[in-house]
Amino acid sequence: MQTDVLIVGGAAIGSAAAFFLASQPDFKGKIHVLEQDFSYEKSATALSAASIRHQFSTPENIKLSQFGSDFLQNIEHYLAVNGEVPVVNFKERGYLFLATPDGLSTLQSNHVIQKIENVDVSLLTPTQLSSRYSWLNVDDLSAASIGNRGEGWLDAYGLLQGFRRKAVSLGVNYIQARVEKLQRSGRRIISAELTDGTRISFDKVINATGVGASALAKTAQIELPVEARKRTIFYFTSSATLENCPMVIDPSGAYFRPEGEGYICGIAPRAEDDVECDDFMIQHHLFEEVLWPLLAARVPGFEALRLKSSWAGHYDMNTLDQNVILGAHPDIDNLLFANGFSGHGLQHSPAIGRALSELVTYCEFRTLELGALGWRRVINNCPYLEANII
Ligand SMILES: Cc1cc2nc3c(=O)[nH]c(=O)nc-3n(C[C@H](O)[C@H](O)[C@H](O)COP(=O)(O)OP(=O)(O)OC[C@H]3O[C@@H](n4cnc5c(N)ncnc54)[C@H](O)[C@@H]3O)c2cc1C
Repeated sequence: MQTDVLIVGGAAIGSAAAFFLASQPDFKGKIHVLEQDFSYEKSATALSAASIRHQFSTPENIKLSQFGSDFLQNIEHYLAVNGEVPVVNFKERGYLFLATPDGLSTLQSNHVIQKIENVDVSLLTPTQLSSRYSWLNVDDLSAASIGNRGEGWLDAYGLLQGFRRKAVSLGVNYIQARVEKLQRSGRRIISAELTDGTRISFDKVINATGVGASALAKTAQIELPVEARKRTIFYFTSSATLENCPMVIDPSGAYFRPEGEGYICGIAPRAEDDVECDDFMIQHHLFEEVLWPLLAARVPGFEALRLKSSWAGHYDMNTLDQNVILGAHPDIDNLLFANGFSGHGLQHSPAIGRALSELVTYCEFRTLELGALGWRRVINNCPYLEANII
């Protein structure tokens, strides 16, 4: 079998790339997406907290998210098929980053960058916080940062299916199959081998396999510093009424936000426990021992709550600097990477899909300059750090 562009992995990133590439007026080739599991039940996309923020510390991450919000707000323009608009339920609501005296200077320096990048964000004093959010304990806080526009949350599965349906309507072929290896010859990948031994040749190939990305890269003799790191999300209800509740990011790293009739919350495990891992077992102790006490200290109304459900998924963690590794490796001309999102890939999927379509079509970025997120920093071991990781 032969195609022009093969996309391996058909969740948010692979399907966004397929959609944008199929929409590029200057791209005329065939596109195939190979996805090992059409249920997507283990994909990070389907298991995501599905939230979007502009409050990052690097201009690239901010701009990627700004396009993400714009995309969600104009989704019918991009993804309607025969007048049918995908249901993504984008709920626009800010992120509230809380800072103790220790975190104040980081909050302020992030704020400076965000303002330069036209993020609609405000710093709040503890007094302002109390008057906006009477349910919040501000005793230990020095300040907070709230996003006024563009941030919020959505239905990740709805977005994925929206990308996919539109891509199919534009002629993209989806096949349920797993790529076991890439065959490399010098500076090119010449084919992909599927589990049943079938080989597919192509002009260009995109690695959009999430936590599977480093295993696939290894078959082409490329070391990709991306590991699967488990994150558990807990859903609970509470009789407390939290008016106008944003996505709250506690100084401890714990987060919570409204979801349906209740709230979801989570926290990263301690660094020493945060190891490579591919099981989906719930980290129950995190809720009982870590999260609940933190939540109850921050919102006294959460002292009484009812844990209803939980699920675990995996970040594709870039162990160098927690930012995506985007584009071609300098040793291989026709293999493009978009891996290592480290927990912020869903919100960036529209902009990354567009960027990949430009790299395929023009061999350069056309709308957003994202060279800082390329392989060069990885090879030179020069992390491009994002200070605002949740
Ligand atoms: C608990 C949790 C919370 C998160 N919260 C947020 C959030 O609030 N906001 C945000 O922006 N991001 C969040 N993320 C991150 C976000 O979900 C991911 O960055 C994003 O979904 C990555 O999309 P992807 O398409 O690269 O990877 P995935 O969604 O993992 O998709 C990869 C796909 O590739 C397929 N695949 C893998 N290997 C192969 C192969 N060899 N052959 C064929 N197919 C293959 C898989 O089946 C899978 O469908 C969260 C992630 C988790 C786990």
